[in-house]
Amino acid sequence: MTARIISGTETAKLVRERIAQDVVKLREAHGITPGLVTILVGNNPASVSYVTGKQKTARDLGFYSVQDDQPEDISEDDLVWLVEHYNKDPRVHGILVQLPLPSHISETRVLNAIDPDKDVDGLHPMNLGRLMIGQARFYPCTPYGIRELLSIAGIETKGAEVVVVGRSNLVGKPISMMLVQKEAGANATVTMCHTATRDLGEHTKKADILIVAAGRAKAITADMVKDGAVVIDVGVNRIGVTAEGKAKLCGDVDFEAVKEKASVITPVPGGVGPMTITMLMQNTLKAAQLAVKG
Ligand code: NAP
Repeated sequence: MTARIISGTETAKLVRERIAQDVVKLREAHGITPGLVTILVGNNPASVSYVTGKQKTARDLGFYSVQDDQPEDISEDDLVWLVEHYNKDPRVHGILVQLPLPSHISETRVLNAIDPDKDVDGLHPMNLGRLMIGQARFYPCTPYGIRELLSIAGIETKGAEVVVVGRSNLVGKPISMMLVQKEAGANATVTMCHTATRDLGEHTKKADILIVAAGRAKAITADMVKDGAVVIDVGVNRIGVTAEGKAKLCGDVDFEAVKEKASVITPVPGGVGPMTITMLMQNTLKAAQLAVKG
């Protein structure tokens, strides 16, 4: 079997068209434009590239967008002050602080300073807690992108054996919590694996849907995948430089071998990545819509 390859790039385009239409509706009905601020500390090349992509997408969708770049040596207090400043700015509905932050700054303190109603990255403890009890307001963007990919590709999750490799607060835990909820687009039986898991392959081989967010290049090989499984590869690993001088990327899954065994698979790049940015925009739109309701 050769797998159907789900393009995150194409799926993201569809979702963005829907968002752009909703932005126009919101403006016409209430005179409100969704506003997103991205705060970038320092000039880590990967972070610069992510923030540039987010800002471009926000502008393309007609958002009010602010790129607030701060020096590497900004103090934690000043950064928290900045976040609180945007908490009060009515033009801003979403605040994104690009991670990682320099080591002298507590990411926890900065993220917790974001007003939960403007936490469009969905990483505030209030929003993660809401997600856990099935009352989510904002889903973290990467797990949200994975769920949308599954849904738009028509993959049935109800009753499916889902195995998630990775238990980070950013990806592994939230996608597990989302897919276990008793609701449409979820309702799966979820197993979460990590570095202390005994015999990873024994678990992954049972998966109808295998979601891999380990950050280890080609950690999942074909012998670890069940025939006909749906494989979502979240990993982004830099494995060299292309002839054009760009970073050469690969996922956590041995794509070439696994695509001969899976029924559906996402590529890297062009899989989960484009969906992550898109769901940030979806969350910002939602924050603006909620602000209208008051
Ligand atoms: P992370 O915080 O480093 O977490 C990795 C998780 O994988 C940990 O829970 C770790 O277990 C587990 N793990 C690592 N190696 C393993 C192995 N050999 N067997 C089983 N479990 C293993 O990473 P993350 O933030 O979740 O990101 C994961 C990957 O996704 C990275 O490549 C990242 O770049 C990528 N990512 C992509 C997007 C996107 O938009 N495309 C967004 C976010 C992240 P322990 O807990 O035991 O250490």
